[in-house]
Amino acid sequence: MTEPVHISPEYIAAGLKGLCPRCGARTLFAGVARFAPVCPNCGLEFAKFHVDDGPAAFLTLGIGTLVTIAAITLELTVSPPFWVHFAIWTPVTLLSVVASLRVAKGMLILAEYRNDAREGRIRDEPPEARP
Ligand SMILES: [Zn+2]
Repeated sequence: MTEPVHISPEYIAAGLKGLCPRCGARTLFAGVARFAPVCPNCGLEFAKFHVDDGPAAFLTLGIGTLVTIAAITLELTVSPPFWVHFAIWTPVTLLSVVASLRVAKGMLILAEYRNDAREGRIRDEPPEARP
């Protein structure tokens, strides 16, 4: 049996508020979901982290599924004209993806900073020296 996954409230706050993983200042984002190049408070270079838009596809698929279910439910219960669907689901989808992307990127950069995550490297030492 596997342990349930718990996300620390710190991660959620960091994502929601755009906090720098080192100093905790609200300096992480320079745009809607774009990282600032460097934290003006502590000098941490956000460009060194490799979060990029990795969570975008996952969030788009998840939110797309929920929006599709909601749209089908609305259609089957009320059957509004097409423009109502367009007027509701387009902004809901865009705002949901952008807002959740910002939170996910903030959480991922904090996890990468705390775990000192780096790209994999091949050791240069001989095999007999390895543990
Ligand atoms: Zn900082």
